[in-house]
Amino acid sequence: MAETVDAAWAIGWLRRSAEVIAEHHVELSGLDRAIGDGDHGENMNRGFQAILGKLDEAAPETPGAAFKLAAMTLMSKVGGAAGPLYGTAFLRAATSAGDAAELDTAALAAALAAARDGVVARGKAEPGDKTMIDAWTPAVEAARAAAEAGASPTEVLSAAAKAAEEGAVATDPMVARKGRASYLGERSAGHRDPGAASSALLLRAAAETAGGTETAGAAG
Ligand code: ADP
Ligand code: MG
Repeated sequence: MAETVDAAWAIGWLRRSAEVIAEHHVELSGLDRAIGDGDHGENMNRGFQAILGKLDEAAPETPGAAFKLAAMTLMSKVGGAAGPLYGTAFLRAATSAGDAAELDTAALAAALAAARDGVVARGKAEPGDKTMIDAWTPAVEAARAAAEAGASPTEVLSAAAKAAEEGAVATDPMVARKGRASYLGERSAGHRDPGAASSALLLRAAAETAGGTETAGAAG
């Protein structure tokens, strides 16, 4: 059974993310229009298209290098709240992954946790504040539980994606306490948080990509 993910997975994830964000950017900006300033989809699309350009110049050789490329690009190309937050997430994931050529499920779960912790360190949001943290926190917990239970990388990432999707849906009734949406107070309830929605898309892309690029572990 496949045991690890490698640079091909990380590059594939970023490429698939760019595709998925391009497909959904109108919808993401629509969510942001309801409780923010309507730019989240454009912000993310600009950032991930720039990542594609960087990947075409030189392919990163490790997952950590791919995460770092994503971090630097998102920080420089995506304005607003989401650029620095996602930039920090990818940078912390890069540090967690180090220069390892392959990540096993424990390392993968640790990288996701590091990414989440980076968003918290940067944005100071807690679960229930109606932010991307409400997608990331259940995703990290699901990934860790799956890794501890001996799941494959695809299963770990699928568990994370499913938890993030449920976490994004769970932001619907929440009242925003962080970011631009918090200016609306109670009127922010009844709308999905755009950053939680984009986080769920990225984690689903990670799981889909793992299905195709896991490296084969030792037989048996
Ligand atoms: P901006 O709000 O500057 O226009 P975006 O629209 O690109 O930036 O991103 C908005 C998203 O950023 C929100 O939906 C939310 O998920 C996330 N966000 C905003 N502030 C925070 C924060 N302090 N912590 C975590 N996530 C945040
Ligand atoms: Mg916005």
